[in-house]
Amino acid sequence: MNTNFSEFGISDQVVTALSNMGFEEPTPIQKMAIPSALKGRDIIGQAQTGTGKTAAFGIPIIERKPEERGKYPYAIVLCPTRELAVQVAQEINRIGSAKGVFALPVYGGQSIEVQLKNLRKGVDLVVGTPGRVIDHIRRKSLILKDIKIVVLDEADEMLNMGFIEDIETILREVPQERQTMLFSATMPTEILTISKKYMNKPKHVHVDASAMVVPKVKQAFYEVREEDKLKALTRLVDVEGPSLTLVFSRTKREVDDVSGKLMQMGYSAGAIHGDFTQSHRDEMMRKFKKGEIDILVATDVAARGLDIPDVSHVINYSIPQDPEGYIHRIGRTARAGKSGIAITFVTPREYRHLRLIEKAAKTVIQKAKLPTKEQVKKARENVIALALEETIRGGEHTSYHPLVVNLLSAHSPEDIVAAALLMLFGKTEVEDIREVGFTHPETKRDYVKLFMTVGKKDRLNVGDIVRSISSEAGIPAGKIGNIALFDTFSFVEVPAELADRVIASINNCMMKGRKVKIQPAKRMDTKRR
Ligand code: ADP
Ligand code: MG
Repeated sequence: MNTNFSEFGISDQVVTALSNMGFEEPTPIQKMAIPSALKGRDIIGQAQTGTGKTAAFGIPIIERKPEERGKYPYAIVLCPTRELAVQVAQEINRIGSAKGVFALPVYGGQSIEVQLKNLRKGVDLVVGTPGRVIDHIRRKSLILKDIKIVVLDEADEMLNMGFIEDIETILREVPQERQTMLFSATMPTEILTISKKYMNKPKHVHVDASAMVVPKVKQAFYEVREEDKLKALTRLVDVEGPSLTLVFSRTKREVDDVSGKLMQMGYSAGAIHGDFTQSHRDEMMRKFKKGEIDILVATDVAARGLDIPDVSHVINYSIPQDPEGYIHRIGRTARAGKSGIAITFVTPREYRHLRLIEKAAKTVIQKAKLPTKEQVKKARENVIALALEETIRGGEHTSYHPLVVNLLSAHSPEDIVAAALLMLFGKTEVEDIREVGFTHPETKRDYVKLFMTVGKKDRLNVGDIVRSISSEAGIPAGKIGNIALFDTFSFVEVPAELADRVIASINNCMMKGRKVKIQPAKRMDTKRR
């Protein structure tokens, strides 16, 4: 059964705002968190990025607004980065404006005067980075005595960035009598410690990692040498023609290097990392969101939690450090139900690391082949042909006709046009990428056998089972092992690391109108002699 937002018993203005924003039904974390949060309960919410955590706490904040705007804010949201603070404030303002809720982002890098002025005018809630919030507390420009709700958003990330002491300072400043909500993609023990110290019988809500972003993202990896990565990247961009590509690099230096080279080659690329000024970062984000630049190269920290709709490709130019990092990065695509592609470049030395990530993230990353030189050439020619056709349709080119007529008395049409194209688009050669010397064969995985309560009598064949499992659990058909079909039951082998996911997504599902129960097969050891 579908729930819709009005069933939460929230105000019509908010329901209308959500529907105007295209939110049709609450996401799982919203379904789980909103009812209790509306009652004022403390909440600990764990779910990956892209699962709608902002509205999960934003809607209750808006609904719990006091009748009159007080002199001081009634809610405060802490976020790890300035970009996130801006984004969260925007989303809350969009949902809450019809109810007259105003959220102000405060963060380092923006002029403190502007913030002071806005704070003096009075705001309902402040969304800020811990450092700047403390700054305002010290200046007495931010008074927390009326705070009724505190939210720690992306708590794990704030912890990683060393904000723990600042957060504790702020939590000690706010009134005891309050609601506290904490959202995080992961739950390291330090966070649980904080919650024990500062929260009151929190309700835990948890959206399982296997139920989230990963299945919608198509994942692949390419084995390339370090020195061939840039060529590999441009081949992919040329052939796949992605709408927006987010490229992750490990270091600021590499971000500069990759984005700089892309621009030199004529791609519309930009970069963000911690060394850039706030205005540069804002400008880049604005351009990227509007599609004025197609490729944004970023470090993990700069891109963490950013919500950029329509990112079609995430490219891990350098492999992420750990499984959490991997999930976070690929969560930048396929936002809110859209599909996306995540690509990871792996040098031969990093192959084992990739497999560890894959296993821990309980996902499948399939090896893929880079586009060939011929494919790249063809793709580039298509782009040129399209550009020419568009120019001809535009009609402004005709002022060149007299010149062309002159040139035609000395050269062939082929030569003239080809020379013009060379001037415009450069040489046509596609650079070589050397094959990686020894490629890793796809490893033989451990498979486990699962037992299902459907069989031939249910008019099922092997293909039906493969299709159901592959689409319901979001795993490639090629990863499904042997299937043994009996009259009323069947066995299917799947990679061990995916067994939980398959069971969770298939159990109680319908196949050909029959409800399926699925569980690990029991070993029949007694039969062996
Ligand atoms: P998280 O904080 O979990 O990373 P966000 O709150 O940034 O996720 O939400 C991710 C995207 O999904 C945003 O673009 C947001 O506007 C959108 N979104 C959130 N809730 C819904 C919903 N119920 N229906 C459709 N889109 C939603
Ligand atoms: Mg978030």
